[in-house]
Amino acid sequence: MSKRIFEEKQAGYYGEIVDELEKIKKNAAGVRRPEEFIRFSTEVVSIIERAAALGARGETLNSIANKAIEAVELAAKNLEIADEDIRRYGTPMMKKVYEEFRDSPTVVKDLRQGVFNKLKATMVTRIINTALEPELEPHVRELADILADAYRRSGRLEDAMNAAYDYFRRAKYGGGRLADQLFTEASLSLQHAPRSMQKFSRAVLTTCPGADVCGAQCYALHGNYTLLQTKRAIALRDLFVTKLQSELSKRVGGDKALIAGLLGATFAAGVKSLGFGNIVRLHDAGDFSNDVYLTAWMTAAKLLPNVMIYTYTKTFPNVEGMPRVWQEAVELYRALFGEPPPKNFNINLSGTATNYKFLAGAAEALTGLGINVPGVFFYAPANMDEYYRNREERWRELAAALVEAVRRTTGKKLVLEFEHGLGARRAAKSSENIIRLVDEITNYVNKTSTQLTISIPETAYSEVKLDEEQKEALRRIQDPYARSVILTDPDKMRSLGRLQTMLALKGYSYTKGFEGNWLKKKEGVDVGFMRPARVFTIPGIGEPVEVFIEPGGEKACSLCQRCVAAEHSPLKSSFKIRLSDKERARTKNLVAA
Ligand code: SF4
Repeated sequence: MSKRIFEEKQAGYYGEIVDELEKIKKNAAGVRRPEEFIRFSTEVVSIIERAAALGARGETLNSIANKAIEAVELAAKNLEIADEDIRRYGTPMMKKVYEEFRDSPTVVKDLRQGVFNKLKATMVTRIINTALEPELEPHVRELADILADAYRRSGRLEDAMNAAYDYFRRAKYGGGRLADQLFTEASLSLQHAPRSMQKFSRAVLTTCPGADVCGAQCYALHGNYTLLQTKRAIALRDLFVTKLQSELSKRVGGDKALIAGLLGATFAAGVKSLGFGNIVRLHDAGDFSNDVYLTAWMTAAKLLPNVMIYTYTKTFPNVEGMPRVWQEAVELYRALFGEPPPKNFNINLSGTATNYKFLAGAAEALTGLGINVPGVFFYAPANMDEYYRNREERWRELAAALVEAVRRTTGKKLVLEFEHGLGARRAAKSSENIIRLVDEITNYVNKTSTQLTISIPETAYSEVKLDEEQKEALRRIQDPYARSVILTDPDKMRSLGRLQTMLALKGYSYTKGFEGNWLKKKEGVDVGFMRPARVFTIPGIGEPVEVFIEPGGEKACSLCQRCVAAEHSPLKSSFKIRLSDKERARTKNLVAA
């Protein structure tokens, strides 16, 4: 068959495929139940798979994928999630939270929304992956060969990393360097200075076995993350990981530890090849859902001793039904290096208003495995008070659970963050919740004589876009630090002030602290931000728990700086949990772990 006839025939096939998608789209409006949605979407996925198998590539495949996504999104419009679907389709954590919070209509509503988001995200990711796969596959196969050969020759992961590094320096993908599409610079709002931090993300919800109500509000489901371009970028990383894992498995005969080691050598090479930053933040979207992948990042940390790798997790090892990624990963890592995970691999626990009962147990399990856990991060959603309506004792339980979890971490830090990015009204409600939570925390530490410090910033910056007047003012003012005054957020500052007043009225004294200052370009000029703080002390015994209030918006320092590397809160050298048997007994009844 001549090339022209072949191409015409192919164009005909693609036309038929598009027609088929248009036809199936007509059924989308009738989709109601999750089973119907899954059936419908699976059919859509099979159509795009067929297009890929027939040889559709590039723009042709992308436009078929876009039509397929439209069909799935249309079907999702009328999708109804019932309570029993949480048990059926929810993550392991959603199921647990449902059992615990069935009496809270707001929690159940958010869990249902989380299940909805998960079902939709899973199907959209499958479509995008199918469109990306043909172009990515040859790269992954070549890289797997390079890694396996380099390792076979010397038996050293360092050599595999160097070989992957050479590969990343030359490999092209989608009009640029492959490495630049997999490993990227972290958002500027997280960095002290440009090009100081990299990030690596995974597909939201499909890689989050620990997602609970966060599956309804996760920021990786809003803003830029809703753009197809962002979804593609994240799906590419995900697909790269799963494909490389499977190709490596073919080459090293299913040796899981070695697969993880070679995947880790790849991550280390990718990070190195970007050529900037000594901090890597994992999972602005996504979480750990696979032991080989988790071991790979531990390995990358080992191979890059001068790089801090950090993240937050809700994949708690002490939750029934959760994949056993931590235990397995530590074993795989031991098989590779004969030692516990490296200290530059930092895992903060991500606490929510509904997963708090598992936090202390998770902290104990992770540190027991030798993992460095700088602290606990708690994001206060605006509707938290609705979650706890009619069950006021939950505020006390939450406060106790947070303190007890933090005491079991290696860094003893608790970050309480205002909800942000979802509107001023929600941010204000969230700050009310934080004030109440801090009140309960101080009550709890008083009762248990736990020593605590609370650092409350005296500045908070806005996250809204600048208007013309503000832009003009920025350019007029000479002193960079004076410029930032016009970027402060008065509502947040008021909330921080109320927090300080509450603690002062309770009789706690404070010292002046300073969390950092940093320069950023805004409207072409340097703006100097600074964060003086008042550090309140609640006297008690034992190593102090350090609480940081994070108002969100323009950040003083990235949370990794605070939780991991900040000078004012150096990494604790001891990995041992210093809780006596008596202390354990005292807290046993307070926290169900
Ligand atoms: S990325 Fe984090 S916050 Fe978002 S759904 Fe996953 S676990 Fe929840």
